[in-house]
Amino acid sequence: MKKHNFSAGPCILPQEVLQQASAAIINFNNDDLSLIEISHRSNSFVAVMEKARNLALELLGLENKGYKALFLQGGASLEFLMVAYNLLNKKAAYLNTGTWADKAIIEAKHFGKLVEVASSKDKKYNYIPKGYEIPTDADYFHCTSNNTVAGTQMKEFPETNVSLVCDMSSDIFSRQLDFSKFDLIYAGAQKNMGPAGATLVIIKEDILGKVERHIPSMLDYQIHIDKDSMYNTPSVFAVYVSMLTLQWLKDLGGIPFIEEVNNKKAALLYTEIDRNPLFKGIVAREDRSTMNATFVLTDKSLKDTFDKMWTEAGISGINGHRSVGGYRASMYNALPLYSVQTLVDVMKALERAQA
Ligand SMILES: *Cc1c(COP(=O)(O)O)cnc(C)c1O
Repeated sequence: MKKHNFSAGPCILPQEVLQQASAAIINFNNDDLSLIEISHRSNSFVAVMEKARNLALELLGLENKGYKALFLQGGASLEFLMVAYNLLNKKAAYLNTGTWADKAIIEAKHFGKLVEVASSKDKKYNYIPKGYEIPTDADYFHCTSNNTVAGTQMKEFPETNVSLVCDMSSDIFSRQLDFSKFDLIYAGAQKNMGPAGATLVIIKEDILGKVERHIPSMLDYQIHIDKDSMYNTPSVFAVYVSMLTLQWLKDLGGIPFIEEVNNKKAALLYTEIDRNPLFKGIVAREDRSTMNATFVLTDKSLKDTFDKMWTEAGISGINGHRSVGGYRASMYNALPLYSVQTLVDVMKALERAQA
């Protein structure tokens, strides 16, 4: 039986997507060729790329609003650099909510003045700063919607006239937002959409072309737009699996449907973390992520017992990030409610065993 996969990334994908993807590795489209041995310029693959881009825009409600969807490579980490390369003229504002935001800041500093509007580094990123001000003359404001490592999530985004840029790697397609508030959204595929190797970038085309510097071709959003994400050979497998996952999501009822499931899963787990005296959460309640729930044992001596119990229950991937410790249960879109129920049952069983 498949394990209950709570991995933070690369993460669980729908079983039916994995099945379709493995069939396509052998025989894609009944062409008697593998998906990964055909030309990316073939009609069959061009159709995949187009469908993936269209599904992304459709699910986010961004069709016909001046946005382009790109599938690039280099992970979200390369976007830290590309965003600044393409958009930073003089000054950019960044919200520092954790490891990933911090890395984005490091890259952007090379391109202009960087204003860190607020940071939660003082408390190991266990909350989302609020009430900060964004300089109105900034070229853009960059934030990270979900801190995958600490388990915090922005529930609100600032009202500002400054362009909003957001790293949504670990919660894109998980909840309803007014995505048209953002001028640029990026996400590494491997958290909530597909295998590693593709990065989705959603970009409002009219924000481009405003920097003076020469942009290397591979880092130039405009070139990737003009070439329909095929300036060079795209990561065909990652794009294909992302397309299948987006289609799976659409067939289920899209983001409104999955948001409800995600809320149920998160409520189930956080309720147990709060109720069970053997566990406690480690981030501010109002900022808790629905995707990555972090918690610790109140009595560390129970670690070996608890670890053995969840392993025996078929649970995988709940060890906390190496920088945080404790536990982190990642509940991405494809994780079923019964996997969360299994974890909660183990937590209850641990409590009974101590009584
Ligand atoms: C995982 C993650 C990244 C890094 O993604 P890569 O694709 O490995 O570069 C960046 N931002 C967030 C929020 C993440 O969760």
